[in-house]
Amino acid sequence: MFGIRSARAPLALLLILPFVLALAGCGSGSSSSTLRTPTIIWATPAAIPYGTALSGTQLDATSAVAGTFAYTPASGTVLTAGAHTLSVTLTPTDTTDYTTATKTVSLTVNQATPTISWATPAAIPYGTALSGTQLDASSTVAGTFAYTPAAGTVLAAGTQTLSVTLTPTDTTDYTTATAIVSLTVNPPTTADGRADAMLAQMSQADKLAMVQGGVTTNLTYGYTVPRGAAGFVPGNVALGIPELYLADGSVGVGNGVGPATALPSSIASAASWDTNEATKYGNIIGTELADYGINVNLGGNINLIGREPRDGRTFETKGEDPILAGKITAAHLNAIQAAHVIADIKHFAFNDQETGRSTANAIIDERGGRESDLLAFEIGVKDSNVQSVMCSYNLTNGQYDCENDHLLNQVLKGDWSFPGFVMSDWWATHSTDTAAINGLDQEQPNQQYFSTLGQDVASGAVPQSRLDNMVHRILRAMYEVGIFDNPQKIQAIPAVADAAVAQEIEEQGAVLLKNANSQLPLNGSTVQSIAVIGLHADTAVLSGGGSAQVQPIGGAMTQGQPCPPCWATVTWDLTSPMQAIKAMAPNAQIDFTDGTDAKFASQEAAASQVAIVFVNQWASEGMDEPSLNLTDLILGQPVDQDALVAAVAAANPHTIVVVESGGPILMPWLSQVSAVLEAWYPGQNGGPAIADLLFGVTNPSGKLPITFPASEAQLPRPAIPQPPANGTFDVNYTEGYNVGYKWYDTQGFTPLFPFGYGLSYTTFSITNAAIVNNLSSASNPNFQVTFNLANTGTVAGAEVAQIYLGLPASLNEPPKRLVGWQKVLLQPGASQPVTIEVDQNDSSHPMSYWDTGSSSWMVAPGSYTVYLGNSEAAGSLTTVGTITVAE
Ligand code: BGC
Repeated sequence: MFGIRSARAPLALLLILPFVLALAGCGSGSSSSTLRTPTIIWATPAAIPYGTALSGTQLDATSAVAGTFAYTPASGTVLTAGAHTLSVTLTPTDTTDYTTATKTVSLTVNQATPTISWATPAAIPYGTALSGTQLDASSTVAGTFAYTPAAGTVLAAGTQTLSVTLTPTDTTDYTTATAIVSLTVNPPTTADGRADAMLAQMSQADKLAMVQGGVTTNLTYGYTVPRGAAGFVPGNVALGIPELYLADGSVGVGNGVGPATALPSSIASAASWDTNEATKYGNIIGTELADYGINVNLGGNINLIGREPRDGRTFETKGEDPILAGKITAAHLNAIQAAHVIADIKHFAFNDQETGRSTANAIIDERGGRESDLLAFEIGVKDSNVQSVMCSYNLTNGQYDCENDHLLNQVLKGDWSFPGFVMSDWWATHSTDTAAINGLDQEQPNQQYFSTLGQDVASGAVPQSRLDNMVHRILRAMYEVGIFDNPQKIQAIPAVADAAVAQEIEEQGAVLLKNANSQLPLNGSTVQSIAVIGLHADTAVLSGGGSAQVQPIGGAMTQGQPCPPCWATVTWDLTSPMQAIKAMAPNAQIDFTDGTDAKFASQEAAASQVAIVFVNQWASEGMDEPSLNLTDLILGQPVDQDALVAAVAAANPHTIVVVESGGPILMPWLSQVSAVLEAWYPGQNGGPAIADLLFGVTNPSGKLPITFPASEAQLPRPAIPQPPANGTFDVNYTEGYNVGYKWYDTQGFTPLFPFGYGLSYTTFSITNAAIVNNLSSASNPNFQVTFNLANTGTVAGAEVAQIYLGLPASLNEPPKRLVGWQKVLLQPGASQPVTIEVDQNDSSHPMSYWDTGSSSWMVAPGSYTVYLGNSEAAGSLTTVGTITVAE
C-alpha cells in the first residue's frame, strides 16, 4: 500500500519523504548520537535573471528541516548567462539532530536586457550619419547604439523620434535592446545640405520650374523681363525660394535694369594688372546689381580673344593670357558674389569670334585647349567659387557647347569639381535629353527644350537623379552666395562714390604706348593752345555695344545701330574730354573740331601748340571688326580716321592720339605722332580720367593685356572664317595653345606693341634679381624671384614687374609664358625689395604642361628659364637664371 501511495505521490513529496522519516526517528526520542543528514530540496529558482545574488538566504520552503540554503561564491562572482551547476549547502536550524548537507543543483541564468542610455547626442547637425557607432556613454554595459535608416535617408530638421538598438559587446549575458529615443536634428548649415533639404520638399513641378528660364513670350531680343533683366526664374512662394533675376554686367549693370556706373571696359581692368583694382571693379558691378534687385550677374567674359583680336566682344574680356585673364576675372567674380549676387563666367568655351558664333565649330586638340582658353576658365572657376557658368553658342570639336559632355561633365564638373550650375547662353540650347544628360543645368531665357524635360524624366530618358542634381546645383548656388539669407534691399546706388572708382580704374588701366621726347605729360600752366579733335570729344566717350551695354549715370547719347549686328545701339557716355582738358589748362586756348573734315582739323592743329586727336573704333557683341584699321561704323559718311591722324600729325609735330577702342588697332601713322594713349572704352568718367593722364595728375601704369599686331597678316587667321549659308563651319585652332604673344614668339613676329607693354612718366630699374628655389618643399613647392625695384625718375609711378618662364625645349611649348607679376607704386627715388612667388600647385599650373596620355597636368624634368622684365618682348626681359627639375 505504501508502495502504491509512493508511486502516486508528487515528486516533491517523494523528495520530502526522507526528511519526514528522519524527523520521525528524532521524535521517538532516540538517543542515538548519529546526527542525520537532511535531504536538500532545491525548489527555487530553476532560472534566475542575470546578476541575481545567490549568496543571500533562501529558505527551503518545503523541507521539514528548517535551515538555509547557502551558495557562497567567491566574492564578486557574477554568474554568466547560461546553465550552471552549483554546490549548495543546507545549514539546518536544528544542528542537534542534523548535520549540514550539500547538494549539486543546476540552474539557468537568463540574459539581461540592458537599459539604453541615450547620452549623446541630444542634438545633431543636419545630415549627420546615425548609422555609425555611438558609444553608450552612461550604461555600465559596453556596446554600441545603432540607428540604421533606409539607404539615403536624411533626417529632416526638427525633433525626431527614432528606434535605436543597443548591441552589447557582452552578448553572453545581455540581449540586444531597443528603445525609442528622441533627438533634435539641427537645420543644415552647408549650401549642399540646405539644397538637399529644400530638394526633399519639392514636387516634380517645383523642380522643373527651376531649370528653365521664365520668359514666356517673344522669343527674340524684344522680350521684357521684370526689373529690366535679361532673364529670370520664378520663385516658389510656398517653399520660400526667391526669384532669380539675371542681368548682364561685364562693364557695369546692363540690359534695361537702370542707369548705372559705366565702368571702363573689362579689358582696361585687365590692363591695370592689379587684382585689387579688379576687386573694386567687381564690387561696383555686384553692389549696383544688388541695389537694383538683381541677384545673378551675366558678366565674367573670359574668352581668350587673343586668337581673334577683331572679336567684337574683346572689350568685355581680360585679354589674351590665360593666367592674367583668369586672375583678374576671379577677382571680379569674388567681389560680385560678396554682394550676394551669383556671378557667372562665360562663354564656355572657345567662343572666340562673333562671326557665325552659333554655327562655328572650334576645332582644337586637348592639350591646346587645356593650356589656353580652358586654363583661363579653370583659374577663374577655382580661384573665385563662382557659382554659374554660361555655356556658349558655338560647337567645340563637333558638339554644341551647351550639350558638350566633354566640356561640361568631364572638364568643368569632373576635373575642376565645379559645384554650381551651367546655364545656356540665350537660346544656345539645342536639345532636351542630350543637353540635360551632357551637363546643362538651366535653359535660358525660356523653355524651348526643357519644357518637355518632365516627360523625358517620366519616360526614363533622363534619370530623376539628373534632374535632382540640376536643381541641387541651382539651389546650392543660391545658398552659397547668400540669396536666401540676405533679403534684397532695393535702394539707390552710391553713384558719386562709384563714379570716382570708375575713374580710378580707367587711370590705372589706360596704357601709354608712345611718348616721344617726353611729349606727355602736358604742363597745364604753360601750354598755350590745344586743338581737341575727334568725334564727340567735346562731350562724350565711346562705349562697347551689345548685352554688355550700360546706361551711364551721367546720361548717354546714342547714334544708330550699325549692321552687323543690326540690334546694338552706338552709345556715347556723356563725359567731356575737352572740358576736362580745359580744366587742366585754364589759360590755354582750346579749339575743338569733330574730325569729320580732315583738312579743317589739320588747320586747327597747325594753329595750336599741341593737337590731341581722339580716334574711336566701335565694337559690339554680334559682330567682329571688319579690320584692325580704324573703321568708321558709325557715321553715314564714314570718316577715315587714319587719314585724319596723318593729316593732323603732318600739321603739328606735337600730336597726341587718344584711342577709344575695345582692343588692338593698327597705327599706320604711329611714327608721325608724338604720343599715343590707349584709353579703351573709358567709361562714364573717361573725360577727367584721360585729362588726368595727359597732364600727369596720374602717371600711366597700365600694361597691354593683349598684343597689338603690326598687321593682320600676323594673326593666326588673317581672314576671319565666315559661316556658310546653312549649317556649321569649322574654325581650326591650329595654333593650339599658342595664343597671343605665344603665337608671335613662336612665329618670330615682331608686333606693333607687345603683351605687357606700357610706358610711364618715370623710369624704373631692376637690380639684384635672383631665384630662390623651394621646389623641393612637399607642402608648397615654389620658386621665388627676388629683386630690387627702384623708381629712377622724378615723379611717382607704378611698374608692373613680370615673370615669364621658358619650359624645357623637349615639350615644344612656346618660348615663354607669364607666370607671375606684381604692380609696385614707388615715389621718385624710392626703391623696394620685391618677391614674386610662383607656386607649382597654383590653379594656373605655371610650370606644367597638359599630358594627354595621363589626362593630367605634369611637370617635366629639365631646365626652366626664368625671365624678369616689364613686357614680354625679348628686349625688355633679363634672364634671371634657370631651374632644373630632376628626372
Ligand atoms: C550674350 C550673353 C548675354 C546674354 C544675355 C547673349 O546674347 O552672348 O553674353 O549674357 O545674351 O543678355
